[in-house]
Amino acid sequence: MEHLRKEYPNGKIAVDDFNLEVGKGEFICFIGTSGSGKTTTMRMINRMLSQTSGTIKINDQDIAKMDPVKLRRSIGYVIQNIGLMPHMTIQENIELVPKLLGWSKEKRAQQAHKMIELAQLPDEMLQRYPGELSGGQQQRIGVVRALAADQEIILMDEPFGALDPITRESLQDLVKHLQEDLGKTFIFVTHDMDEALHLATRVVIMSQGKQVQVDTPENILRHPANEFVTNLIGEERLIRAQPNILNINQIMRKNPVAISPDKTLSDTIDLMHEKRVDTLLVTDDQDKLIGYIDLDDVSRNTDTATPVSQLMNHKVFFVQDKALIGDTVQRILKLGVKNVPVVDDDHRLVGIVTRTSLVDIVYDALRGAPATDEQPASPINADIHAAATREGGDA
Ligand code: ADP
Ligand code: MG
Repeated sequence: MEHLRKEYPNGKIAVDDFNLEVGKGEFICFIGTSGSGKTTTMRMINRMLSQTSGTIKINDQDIAKMDPVKLRRSIGYVIQNIGLMPHMTIQENIELVPKLLGWSKEKRAQQAHKMIELAQLPDEMLQRYPGELSGGQQQRIGVVRALAADQEIILMDEPFGALDPITRESLQDLVKHLQEDLGKTFIFVTHDMDEALHLATRVVIMSQGKQVQVDTPENILRHPANEFVTNLIGEERLIRAQPNILNINQIMRKNPVAISPDKTLSDTIDLMHEKRVDTLLVTDDQDKLIGYIDLDDVSRNTDTATPVSQLMNHKVFFVQDKALIGDTVQRILKLGVKNVPVVDDDHRLVGIVTRTSLVDIVYDALRGAPATDEQPASPINADIHAAATREGGDA
C-alpha cells in the first residue's frame, strides 16, 4: 500500500497517507481507536471501497487494474458476526467461494472435509445448519471458510470481537496455526491489544487515519513511539511484560514536592502539612536536586525562621530517570528507603518513585511466574514481603 488515502463523499478523511509493505506469510494486526480507519483500509484492499488516491499492489500488480470480482474471490474475508448463510448447511457455506471459482463437486467436498478438520469440529457438522451451532463453532467455520478457496491473503476485521474469552483464545490459536502452517498472509483488525501482541508478526497502530507505529510486538512494547501508543498498550501490560527493560521515567510519579534552600522552617512545616508528606526534596533555582529535609530535621529545631539550607541533609539517594526498573528495585530494597527521587542527566529533579509502586510492579511481574502459594517466587519477592512488614507500607 503506497500513499493510500480515502476521503469519503462527506469530506471525512478516513485514511491519510497509509504506507505498508506486507511480506508473504506475515500476520499483520491493525489496532487503534474506533474510527481510526482500520475497516476502511481493509475494504480498499479487496476493493469493496476504492481509494481516493494511492496504490495497492498484490504481487506487484496494481489491484485497480484487476477485475474486482476476481480479486475479491482471491482474498478471504471474515468479519464479526456476519457470517454464515443461515439457509445453507455448513458444507454449502464452506463450498460457497470454491463453487463460485468453478471447482468440481468432488474437489469442493474434499476441501469441506479438510476445512472442518482444520476447525477441529466433527465431520458430521458439515450437514448441520448454522443455527444449530454455538457462536464459537460458527465463528470457527467462518475462519476456515475464509481459507476454503485456498486464498493467499486473508482479511479479518474484528472477527472475535463478540466472543467469550475462552472461545476467543481457541480461535486465536486456530488462526495462528493456520498462518504458520499454511503460510497464508493475514491482515487482522482487533481492538484487543493482547490479541494483537499474541498473533502479529507486526502491529500497525492507527489513529485518525494515520499510522502511528508499525513494528514487531516486541519493539512496540520496548519502544512505544509516543504517549498514544503507551496508553494503548497500557502501563500495566508494559510493566508486566518487561520489568527489566522499562525505565524509571515510565513509572515515576511526576511533580514531586520540593522546596528551595532559602525557604524557612516555617515554610517547610506548612508545605509538609499541605501536601501531607513527611519528606521534602530540596532543589536549587535550576531545579537541581541538592538534598532533602524530613520530619526529624524539622522537629529538632524550634526557630521557625531557620533557612532550609541549614537544616537539610545533603546526602540524598537518587536514581536516574533512564535507569532500568529491575536495577532500581534491587537498590531501593537494599537501602530500605521509602521513596527515591528521580533526576535527569542534568541532575534536575523530575520525579519520585515510591516503594509502594515498586512493590506493585514486582508483584505483577512475578505473579505470572510459577510459584507455590506460600513460597515467595524469588529472593526479590521475599525482600519485599519482609520490608513491607517492617515498615508497614506506604510512603
Ligand atoms: P475503524 O474501522 O478504525 O473503526 P472506519 O474505517 O470504519 O474506522 O472509519 C474511519 C472514519 O471514517 C470514521 O470517522 C468513520 O466515521 C468514517 N466513515 C466510515 N465510513 C464512512 C462513510 N461511508 N461515509 C463517511 N464517513 C465514513
Ligand atoms: Mg472497523
